[in-house]
Amino acid sequence: MNARPAALRSSERPTRWQRCLVLFAGILVACAVALALRTPAALAQTCQARVGAEATVPVTVWYCAGDATGERDAGVAAQLFDRVWPEETRPEPDGLGSPIAPDTDDGRLNVYVTPPNDEVQLGRCPQSCYSVLGNAGVAVPVAPFVATTAGSERSSALMILNEQNGVNDATVIHEFFHVLEFAHSVHAALSWLGETSATWAENWYGASDTSRVGFFGEFQRRAGIALNRKNIVHEYGAYVWLVWLSQSTARASAVFRLWSALQPARSDSPDQIDPLIGRYLSRIGVGWRSSFRSFAVEDLNRNLGQATPELFRFGPFGDPAVPLGITPRWVRPPWTLSLGSRRTPVNLTHLAAQYDEVRAIGPRVRAVTVSSRRIRPWGDVVVLYRTRFGWRRRNLNDGSVTFCRARSDQNVSQLYIVSDNHDDLRAHSGASYTVTGRRSC
Ligand SMILES: [Zn+2]
Repeated sequence: MNARPAALRSSERPTRWQRCLVLFAGILVACAVALALRTPAALAQTCQARVGAEATVPVTVWYCAGDATGERDAGVAAQLFDRVWPEETRPEPDGLGSPIAPDTDDGRLNVYVTPPNDEVQLGRCPQSCYSVLGNAGVAVPVAPFVATTAGSERSSALMILNEQNGVNDATVIHEFFHVLEFAHSVHAALSWLGETSATWAENWYGASDTSRVGFFGEFQRRAGIALNRKNIVHEYGAYVWLVWLSQSTARASAVFRLWSALQPARSDSPDQIDPLIGRYLSRIGVGWRSSFRSFAVEDLNRNLGQATPELFRFGPFGDPAVPLGITPRWVRPPWTLSLGSRRTPVNLTHLAAQYDEVRAIGPRVRAVTVSSRRIRPWGDVVVLYRTRFGWRRRNLNDGSVTFCRARSDQNVSQLYIVSDNHDDLRAHSGASYTVTGRRSC
């Protein structure tokens, strides 16, 4: 089951994310917000499904008998499906193509608009019964399951939308994207890329609900967590990596084709998913080793002109809803360089980065040196430096750079140092970089 949690506004504290649900075949799939905990433990109620609306596209929207809100919102949902279906099902490489039609209901996809605790029963409970709980929506794989002898699996799916959140375009786009993911690979849909891609779809298909930005804020607060692992909240905000991917290749098809590349996956475990992603990225020229640092720099989320040519919010592939200045967590508070040295260790889990800002440089400092140590072959150190000619960027792998402040083009006034681990599998440690201020060059 794949889910879209209720909107997380940036003002909300991450402690509100308190409960995880293990629902689908024992796989960790979703986390409910505190909503589920704040509500007195209401007993699950069986949804007596009634047809609320038939969309023009092959989608039937159901509500639970006696639920006036669900009955009303079924019509809203049907209209939204009519709008998003033609776009999301465009054939690859312009979309993810058609979903797999379910075995039942004349092949029409079923969508249920329910209160949080009402249970949609597809068979014996609890195995085949689903509630949306604190999520804005969930997508559940259903028959037919198309498995190969090699172990890959594709399926149809149903969706449940939470009427308490209000049925909106972001939730419909997101959950329907999960349905299209299941048509490619049930396993990949349950990996970190499932939520990451469905959240990216909210941006790509122009959802007017922009609560995804709240998840980006959470992603930035967790800069030390591996990009390519399932993690509550983090995997939703990681959609900006797909914004980066489409910007870097100037094609949204880079995201759609990734799903074709994931089809052979035999499970959702990293040893299946990671190599498929890695090979695909290398094939299109943006492998982790060469290009993860570009994402790490963009994730700084500051518009530094030439030094950050691709930013999440700009250009046809960017997300205009993302405000500048939501920076990743600093390795330490921004600081001022005076005479002397400061060494910063770089110990990072796979596909993670850390960020450092030298906000100002003391007047007695006439030379600034940044040197890195033991970062190769698994990581990168990138120095962004500001002179009166603007921001520039310097990759610094096991070397050093010195800025003589007597020279106008080297009179640096501010630095960002971005260091990363571009290995998609392993944590690494033992590297460092040192920033030194001297009296003379
Ligand atoms: Zn989801």
